[in-house]
Amino acid sequence: MRIEKEEKGRCEMGQCGKRVSNIIRMDRAGVKSRIYICDECIKKLYKVLSEYLIPKSIETIKKEKILR
Ligand SMILES: [Zn+2]
Repeated sequence: MRIEKEEKGRCEMGQCGKRVSNIIRMDRAGVKSRIYICDECIKKLYKVLSEYLIPKSIETIKKEKILR
């Protein structure tokens, strides 16, 4: 899986619908092999994932400060 910059399309996260600037590409995937996601949603996704994977760790807090 990798993330690339992309200017076309619309963000697919919920009701967002903003112009995308990132695409998450899945390796060896079928029809739905790409997820369009804008900068705002990718940061939200990152936050959610970091909280889910490493709850309340010092590392997470450090990374959040770098993103802002
Ligand atoms: Zn979005």
